[in-house]
Amino acid sequence: MKLDFSSYPVIDHHSHPWSKDTKEITKELYISIMNMGGLSSKEARDPENVAHAEFTPMGRQILHLLAKFLGCSSDLTSVIEARNKSSRGDYRRYCEELFKDANIEGLFVDDGYSEVSVASSLAKREFEDFENISPVPIRRVARIEPRFQSAVDDSKDFEDFVSRFDDSIEYAVRNQKAIAFKSIIAYRSGLHIDKPEEEAVRRDYAISKATRIRDVKHIRDWYARRVISKCPELGTAFHAHCGFGDVDVVFDKCNPSQLYDLLKDQETWKTKIFLIHGGYPFSQEAAFFANALKNVYVDLSEMIPFASIPGAMEKTLQILDLAPPARVVFGSDGIVIPEVHWAGAKIGRQVLENTLAKFVETGVYDEDESHTAAKMILAENARRIYKPW
Ligand SMILES: [Zn+2]
Repeated sequence: MKLDFSSYPVIDHHSHPWSKDTKEITKELYISIMNMGGLSSKEARDPENVAHAEFTPMGRQILHLLAKFLGCSSDLTSVIEARNKSSRGDYRRYCEELFKDANIEGLFVDDGYSEVSVASSLAKREFEDFENISPVPIRRVARIEPRFQSAVDDSKDFEDFVSRFDDSIEYAVRNQKAIAFKSIIAYRSGLHIDKPEEEAVRRDYAISKATRIRDVKHIRDWYARRVISKCPELGTAFHAHCGFGDVDVVFDKCNPSQLYDLLKDQETWKTKIFLIHGGYPFSQEAAFFANALKNVYVDLSEMIPFASIPGAMEKTLQILDLAPPARVVFGSDGIVIPEVHWAGAKIGRQVLENTLAKFVETGVYDEDESHTAAKMILAENARRIYKPW
């Protein structure tokens, strides 16, 4: 059974900006982003790290696709040389060609960066700068944690903090065209989001003001719930990073199963909540919520293209095993260079073709239904839910 979804456009539900300084790239830069969390530029020059990182499934599968696109052999040196030859003249045009090749309609872009550590791999990049270089329309997904930290840093007391935080959330929608909020609480105090008492939240405010530490659970649980409760009136969705990511994720509290108390609480049911990265590798837990709760959705980013293609097929099968296709969206977690977004779209279609073929072979869907499901996942769900353009 061979399905072909190559003509269906893609909306990338979760991605990050690249910068115009990537007009030309080095082998070290390429290697440094081909694993989860990336390597620092110093680590990427260490020959031992290079020897290991050069052969990640992600690195190889993108090189093979690029070799085909650029018409060169698939070794790292040839691909980087051919890429720079094509991109150094008119970078925007090169990006346009890439995006046309992968039929990418638009990107939802997480404007976040690390608010607690400058050493983090995600540098601050202005969304507005990216708007000028992106070859397709983009929409902002506003990261909550930097807005929380600024409200703490700039406030004179707790009441002032609450009003600054609320203002920053409303400002993101009214003045910065945010279509969703994203929390990386899985990197701060973990996904088990409670209902904290006010006294505990005030205590955490004082600790955060004095230390800016990551682990102030009560006030983080408070801001997550506060934003979720505001989403319906603001017309936005809520995105939660779930599952693996950089090594500083709170490893024992990043499984989406930790969201059970929050998600079963009816106070959250009016908000569309997206489990980002399909909860990778905890795909079945994410899929359960998207099956059981009609406001919960799963996003396929990061595992496509950061995991291998066969691995992503297995996880996508687990997701579609339970989650209705109307509650699954494609995403790439594309980062640093546009080739990750491009490869994500191409690999995403390939993964869906192979996964949905199994559904057709076994009589779950007929062929038409598999095409309907693919179109929904690749772009139609995002278009219907967000009406982004
Ligand atoms: Zn991301």
